[in-house]
Parts: sequence; C-alpha cells; structure tokens
Amino acid sequence: MSYDVVIAGAGHNGLVAAAYLARAGRSVLVLERQDHVGGLAISTRAFPGVDARLSRYSYLVSLLPTKIVKDLGLRLELRRRRYASYTPVGDGGLLVDNADDERTAASFRRVTGGESDYRAWQEFYAMTARVAERVAPTLLEPLCSADELRATIGDEAAWRDLFERPIGQVVDERFADDTVRGVVLTDALIGTFADPAEDLLANRCFLYHVIGDGTGEWNVPVGGMGAVTGALEEAARQAGATIRTGAEIVGIDPSGEVTFRDAEGEHAVNGRHVLVNLPPAVLDRLTGRAPATPEGAQLKVNMVLSRLPRLKDADVDPREAFSGTFHINESREQLARAYAQAAGGEVPDLPPAEVYCHSLTDPSILGPGLKAETMTLFGLHMPARLFPEHRDEAVAATLRSINSVLAEPLEDCLLIGPDGEPCIEAKTPHDLETEAGLPGGHIFHRDLTWPYGETGTWGVETENPRILLCGAGARRGGGVSGIPGHNAAMAVLTGPS
Ligand SMILES: Cc1cc2nc3c(=O)[nH]c(=O)nc-3n(C[C@H](O)[C@H](O)[C@H](O)COP(=O)(O)OP(=O)(O)OC[C@H]3O[C@@H](n4cnc5c(N)ncnc54)[C@H](O)[C@@H]3O)c2cc1C
Repeated sequence: MSYDVVIAGAGHNGLVAAAYLARAGRSVLVLERQDHVGGLAISTRAFPGVDARLSRYSYLVSLLPTKIVKDLGLRLELRRRRYASYTPVGDGGLLVDNADDERTAASFRRVTGGESDYRAWQEFYAMTARVAERVAPTLLEPLCSADELRATIGDEAAWRDLFERPIGQVVDERFADDTVRGVVLTDALIGTFADPAEDLLANRCFLYHVIGDGTGEWNVPVGGMGAVTGALEEAARQAGATIRTGAEIVGIDPSGEVTFRDAEGEHAVNGRHVLVNLPPAVLDRLTGRAPATPEGAQLKVNMVLSRLPRLKDADVDPREAFSGTFHINESREQLARAYAQAAGGEVPDLPPAEVYCHSLTDPSILGPGLKAETMTLFGLHMPARLFPEHRDEAVAATLRSINSVLAEPLEDCLLIGPDGEPCIEAKTPHDLETEAGLPGGHIFHRDLTWPYGETGTWGVETENPRILLCGAGARRGGGVSGIPGHNAAMAVLTGPS
C-alpha cells in the first residue's frame, strides 16, 4: 500500500500532524506500537479497582498553541489554576496566588523578610511575559536566525539574561532569597540534568517553561491528558487519517518504505513522506545509524490519596497549597546539592521534587462515588545513570523528602485499593525506557534546542528529504505542544511535492 504520508508513532504530535495533513486532503497512515494512542500524553486507571484516571506521564499543558486547538477544532478545556505555587519553609511557606497580589506580596514579606524579592519577581516575570508574547508566534513559522529572533524580542537585556548568560547566575543576581531563587530555577531543571550556574541547557529548559502559548501559564487539561490526545485522535480520524495501533515499526528505508510488525506478521507500506514521531535515537536505530542516547533525569510518582496531608503552615489550607505546584526541598542550595550528589552517582539525600493534585481543579477524573484526591509528584535530579540499581532507594528518599515538609507522613494519606495495596506507583527514567520506549527515559526525547536555527527550514528536516521528524526531538519540540507535529505537516504541505 502507498500513502502520501506514513506517520511513525501516535503520540500527540503524530496525531497533530495526521490531522493537519488529512484535512489538507493527503492520504495518511499512522502506525503505533502500543494498543492505544497518545504516547506520553495519556490517562490511565493505574490502580486495580480504583476509578481515578491519572495523567500517567505528562500532566499540565502550557505549550499547546491556541492556534492548533482552533485550526483542528479540538474540544478541549484547559483550566487555569488559582494558585501558581506553594513552597513550605519551616512552619510557614511561600504562596503565589494568581488571583490575589496582596496575599502573594504578604507571603513574600513573611518568607524573605522584605519587599525587594517580590518586586524582583514581578519585574522578572513581566520580562518573561513580554518575551513569551514575541517568541510564541514564531514557533509555528519557519525557523528564523538567532539575530532575527533577537530583533523580534527587541529587548537586549532580556536576550542576554535568557539566551546568553547562565540562568543560575541571572537568578542569583536578581533575587536574594534562597527559597525564591529555587522556585524560579525549577523551571530550568524539569526533565533536564544540568547545572544552571554554568550550563545554557538549563536556559533552554527555562525558556520553554515560560513562553507557552504567549503566556507561559501551566493549565490543567480537564479530563486529564487522555482528553487532549482523545480530542486529537478524533480530529485525525474525522479528517480521514487511518490509525493502526499494535503496529511496531521495525525499519524505515530511505526510499520511504516502512516495515512494521503486528499480530499477523510483518508488512511494508510506502510513504511519499515518512513523519517520525519517535525519538531521534530510535530513528537512528531503525535507519541503521549509531544512536546517541540522551539521559533523562526525573522520577514520576502517581498517587491516589484518601485525604490531603496536613501542613506545618497554619495559614494555608492544604486545598490551596496542593492545587498549584507544591515545591519540596527545591531551594537554590538544595537544588545545587542534589545535582552534585546525583552527578557523583548517588541518590540525593533530600531529593528536590514538586507535587500537585489534579483533582482539586478538575474532579471529573474521579469516578462517581470515589472520595479521593489524585497526587502527582515530579522529582528532579534523578538521572538515568542511577537506575535500575537505585530504584527503591530513590523512591524511599523522595517520600522522606516530602514527609520532611509535611505535618504527617504522606503514607498515612494514601488510598488503599480493593486489593489491599496503597495507591502509589513510581516511574524512573529506566521504567520509561522499558515501558514507553523512551531512550534514556528522556521526557523530551533529547535535550531541548533553541527556538532558532537554519532560516527557512521548519526544524523537522533530516538528511533525507522524505523523512521528517514530527515529535518532541525536533527543534522547538518537547512537552505537550503539538508544535513539531504542526511544523512537520507544514513542511510537507509547503515543500516540493
Ligand atoms: C513523567 C513525564 C512527565 C511529563 N510532564 C509533562 C507536563 O506536565 N507537561 C508537558 O508539556 N510535558 C510533559 N512531559 C513531556 C511530554 O509528555 C513529551 O515531551 C511529549 O508528550 C512527547 O510527545 P510526542 O508526541 O512527541 O512523543 P511521544 O508521546 O513519546 O510519542 C511517541 C509515540 O511513538 C510510539 N512508538 C515508539 N516506538 C515505536 C515503534 N517502533 N513503532 C511504532 N510506534 C512507536 C510510542 O509508543 C508513542 O506513542 C512529561 C513527560 C514525562 C515522561
């Protein structure tokens, strides 16, 4: 069989590409190894007999452009979180309330002992908001050069601080308080193993965390991540794309022939174009090149709680604290210490992590009659090199870390399922490699890249003009964005036929 386009992988980006191309009248076949679509953007009932649809891997949406949602007519609600974050500090904490500047200012005063860090915070995020407004629209256009992007941003100080100087140095200069510095810096370290004081890789990670859809806000997908890919699957199928699950690609030939295996055996199809939603290291393997394996660096823990844990801070309700990002031992100093320990091959003694409870903003993921809250933990500085050897130690240290900032052990709050087991599961980079086929367990398929490059290309090209990347590993990919899916589709539709 021949198609205009064969898409390798039905992650959310593959589905975005399929929807755009099928709507443009191209014949499209999507081949997916697993028995379901969505890749790292899915909802799962992770615990037997417990009707809570957890976003098993990715959980918040910022980078998905409204333009893609509108172009594809996606039925999707992304809900703003009332509280951006809460960070316990001793018997108090730092609360960032999206709807109450006065309360946020008072919280900064209590934690930092003055006014200056809150002022610095407002100035810094006003700057990132201006950059977001300028950079976000460029992500859906052909690449511009660094100089052109710099001119588009039109703010030399912002360019220097975000693109040229290590973000750790910038944060140290702008903020005085260790807690505040850490809260800002976590955005530079999500899924990214880097020293922000030296390595501009942390700047790239930071940038993608503050420019999403022109605002940088991280919103809750109503219905969970499965609702995002469900809407994309519907858009692709309605436009006429064929999606085959249980079809594992075992070879991609430079001629456009794609070989895959399913329950009936091995088959070959031809694509005038082959769009690759797989990580670049997998593409290398399939095309017979030596793959460069990236290194992921996070621990994801999914939980269902029978109730929220009590806090040491009497001024903040746990429902407020856990509906935003709840930072655990993520001060600037704690992050640096954990990085040094992990780089030396040890599990950090107090792993930095953040948790949030989806069900507080969107209870629709809980089945009728289930009285519970869902909790997701994302741990930093857990590089693939530690696993699988240190799995149990990493999970135990992470629970110790969260318990160190709570008024009672989290274990006492875990829901016990009908099978008598507590509702908790952990995913190391090694687990992601074996379960989800992610090389090195890297959540962005490979280290994030700057959003500029060879002018006029889409950032999805490979050496072979027939074969394009359409997943997180493309330039401007990474995260739940649909951007590389859109850009690969545009490269096909606007390129030579
Ligand atoms: C724990 C975790 C938490 C995260 N949190 C967030 C978050 O909150 N917000 C956010 O924006 N991002 C987050 N991310 C990152 C984000 O999920 C990914 O970067 C993004 O989903 C990648 O999408 P994709 O479509 O490019 O690739 P993928 O989702 O990886 O899809 C690739 C698809 O290809 C399939 N495949 C692989 N090999 C083959 C083969 N040989 N044949 C056929 N099919 C194959 C896979 O099964 C998969 O379906 C997180 C990721 C992880 C792992």
